[in-house]
Amino acid sequence: MLRFVVSAVRQRVASTGTRIDAAPMDTQDVDVTVIGAGIAGSSAAAALAADRHIALIEAEEAAGYHTTGRSAALWVQNYGPPDVRILSALSRPFFEHPPRDLAEVPLMTRRLVVFLAREDQQVELAALHAEGSGLRDIPLADVKALVPALRDGYAVAAAAEDDAFDINVAELHQGFLRQLRARGGSLALRHRAGRIERCNGRWFVETSAGAVFRSSVVVNAAGAWGDEVASIAGAATLGLSPCRRTAAIIDPAPYNVARWPMLVSVGHDWYARPEARTRLMVSPADQTPMHAHDVQPDELDIAIGIDRMQQALDISVQRIERSWAGLRTFTPDGSLAIGWDAALEGFFWCVGQGGYGIQTSPAAGQLVADIVTGRDPHGAAGIVGAVDPRRFHPSPPLSLLRA
Ligand SMILES: Cc1cc2nc3c(=O)[nH]c(=O)nc-3n(C[C@H](O)[C@H](O)[C@H](O)COP(=O)(O)OP(=O)(O)OC[C@H]3O[C@@H](n4cnc5c(N)ncnc54)[C@H](O)[C@@H]3O)c2cc1C
Repeated sequence: MLRFVVSAVRQRVASTGTRIDAAPMDTQDVDVTVIGAGIAGSSAAAALAADRHIALIEAEEAAGYHTTGRSAALWVQNYGPPDVRILSALSRPFFEHPPRDLAEVPLMTRRLVVFLAREDQQVELAALHAEGSGLRDIPLADVKALVPALRDGYAVAAAAEDDAFDINVAELHQGFLRQLRARGGSLALRHRAGRIERCNGRWFVETSAGAVFRSSVVVNAAGAWGDEVASIAGAATLGLSPCRRTAAIIDPAPYNVARWPMLVSVGHDWYARPEARTRLMVSPADQTPMHAHDVQPDELDIAIGIDRMQQALDISVQRIERSWAGLRTFTPDGSLAIGWDAALEGFFWCVGQGGYGIQTSPAAGQLVADIVTGRDPHGAAGIVGAVDPRRFHPSPPLSLLRA
């Protein structure tokens, strides 16, 4: 405890000041400190703020700087493991009818999704149908009518998901932050959690700006840095795997792509979707494991994505207008990790959002709040075990649960 105060005072002198809601250098008492203001931390903080005093701290100077600001912005029901599909379905009503204090404009725009199957992808197509819901066979002639650039002979079959939609990610993310503030919570940007210790039943989170946040609960929503934050707090890591995914924007002229569906290879080796009505976003659906950092796109991945897209679509690419990459972070079994740590009291995980963190965020944030406050998670009750991080360290939690 004394170490924290001395350190905070020392850093106060060296401070250059930061753009924050929370006054720097003070020891602030809150109920819950949420670390990481991407979509996971922001949605959890907003939901928790309904009846707890929350501080949300973020290392960067913009809350969506990392993966949240780099997504493809889609909601697709037939995507991901069972827990993700349930969280996605539970989130849908929120997108359809967002709370009045959250969104000022609609959060969703309908987008047909067409899964294309090549001759060698019949097994994947059968699996999609077996696991999926709300899918229909769509004749290739109908796909061709929608997407005139589709090459004859590329696909042998296709399936359509009619109820998917584009998500207004910026509005959703800012909406969660607005809600947090309206409910009395605070966001502290440029505050990297550098020391996290528990003392006399309270967590002390000291940040790079010298502030100390004191709370009974810490929520680790640090995305690709989730294991790093856990290590700082003294928790066993979960074995999170940050994986690079690349996207590139091209001009598909002479095609007008505004009404095109999202096209997804059923083998998940490329996808493309309209971007801002006149452009096409193309991804090789890469998943390259790497350490947590400010990831940049690799030119080879961009070239692979364009090549795979061009095998399906007769589009010439003159230049890449823009490209980016983000880290999709997975737990060892691919399901999310939302729940208490196996050993550290008051340490809560909200990580492993993989490629689904945006579309699951309304329900995932609510689930965090329900578990932390001890409420019934209602519709999500059936997946509490599947997302419990203690599944990766079974010994301590089982004995604790029996006690
Ligand atoms: C190309 C691409 C396409 C995608 N498409 C979709 C899609 O269509 N639909 C969908 O639902 N999802 C999609 N995703 C996945 C989605 O973007 C992620 O699941 C989601 O953004 C993860 O959110 P997060 O809050 O966990 O991580 P992040 O947004 O990375 O947030 C974590 C934050 O924690 C902060 N942090 C780390 N360490 C500390 C510390 N010590 N102190 C303070 N702060 C810290 C970081 O600075 C960061 O801002 C896509 C991802 C990519 C890359």
